[in-house]
This record gives sequence, structure tokens and C-alpha cells, in this order.
Amino acid sequence: MLIEERIEVVKNNIEQSAKLSGRTSKDISLIAVSKTIDIETVKEVHKLGINDFGENKPQELRDKIPEIPEASWHMIGRLQSNKIKYVVGKTKLIQSVDNLELMQKINDFAIKTGVVQDILIQVNMSKEIQKAGIDENDIDRILLEACSMKNIKVKGLMTIGSAFMTEYELEKMFEKCNNIFVDKKQKKYDNIDMEYLSMGMSGDYMTAIRCGSNMVRIGSGIFGPRNYNI
Ligand SMILES: *Cc1c(COP(=O)(O)O)cnc(C)c1O
Repeated sequence: MLIEERIEVVKNNIEQSAKLSGRTSKDISLIAVSKTIDIETVKEVHKLGINDFGENKPQELRDKIPEIPEASWHMIGRLQSNKIKYVVGKTKLIQSVDNLELMQKINDFAIKTGVVQDILIQVNMSKEIQKAGIDENDIDRILLEACSMKNIKVKGLMTIGSAFMTEYELEKMFEKCNNIFVDKKQKKYDNIDMEYLSMGMSGDYMTAIRCGSNMVRIGSGIFGPRNYNI
């Protein structure tokens, strides 16, 4: 299939799933996950009207952002504190903030460089030990800490589904994350604006949208299979 055909399929699926939860595709942000994809292909997809791209390696963001500076870039992978200089002030969202120390260091670097960085808190809903993300019971604690960090802004939550779950288990997990998202949104913490619930990848975005997601991260569903799986 051509990339433009894949994009059409994804957009149609987003529209259908959004309808099933009383929304339209305008309510859902589509992030094309361009990790490992060469920049010429990413440029082609950008020309086809996709404006948001996700990467899981800070160095790849460092190299790709200057090639398409007008696009919005998202950090979606594990972030070591010595690499935050590549992403703070350069990305629309750092979606993978999963510990207090990292959040503090992002805030420190943002202060130093005079920017305000939007972030999402990554939650490990599937509780797989190899997965990044904070425990759902620690969300309140990290949000309270974020209230006083003036150079970051928490814009929502991010979670990753599990390849080992049945459709039913995935649904339950996404619904639970949506409930947490709605609950935190209603609490109106200082400095926190719960706008995005980032959940859903190529294999499970339709389920995620039906369960309340408003931001999906699609890699292979747009670019085709990756050469190596990371
Ligand atoms: C790779 C990746 C995606 C996209 O995966 P696909 O299955 O190719 O859609 C989404 N989110 C994160 C955090 C990823 O690392």
C-alpha cells in the first residue's frame, strides 16, 4: 500500500472510532511516529498534510527537527537526563515523563533556557515491569510536585497498551486511564491543564479512541513495517 493510502485508512478509522464515542476526527490528534524512518519519507508525509511527528530517541529528534522545523515534534520514548537538551524547548510535547527527577531536570533546563515546556505524564497502566511509566497510584504525587514547577506545564497523560492483552483487557485498561484523566482534569490543579490523553498505537488506536483517547501515536500504520522493532 502507498503511504497516502495508509493515511486515508488511518483517518477513516479515526473518524469511525471518534463517532462511536460521540466525537469527530477533529477531536483526535494524530501523531505520525517516524522513529527509524528516513527524513525524505517523513518530509513526504509532512507534505501530505501530517504536521505532528513522534520520535523515541532524543538524538533522532535533534537531527530531524531542523529538517522540518515547521512541524510539531513529540518525544515519546525513554529520556535520560543528559539528553534533555535535545528536546526541551524544541518539542511540542515530551510525552514520556515518568519520574519526578526527570520532571525536575526538564524544569531546571527550561528555566535556564527561558522556555516553558509542555509535558505528559506517562503512566504504566499495564503494569508490565519492562514498560516505562509511573504507577497510577503515584499520579497525584507527581501532579502536586508539578504545580510549583513554573517552566513546565502538564498537559495530560500518556500510556501504552500491551501486546499481550485481549481486546477486552485493553478496553478495560484504556477506560481506566480515561477515568483517571477525567478525574485529574476535574481537580484543576495549579499549572496543570489536562488537555491530552495520548493512548493508542497502530494495533490498538481504534479501541483507545472508543475509550476516550484524544491523541494517537501511529507508526507502522502510516509508514509501513519498520526494519527493526523499537
Ligand atoms: C513506536 C511507538 C509507537 C508507534 O508504534 P506502531 O505500533 O508502529 O504504531 C507509539 N508509541 C510509542 C511510545 C512508541 O514507542
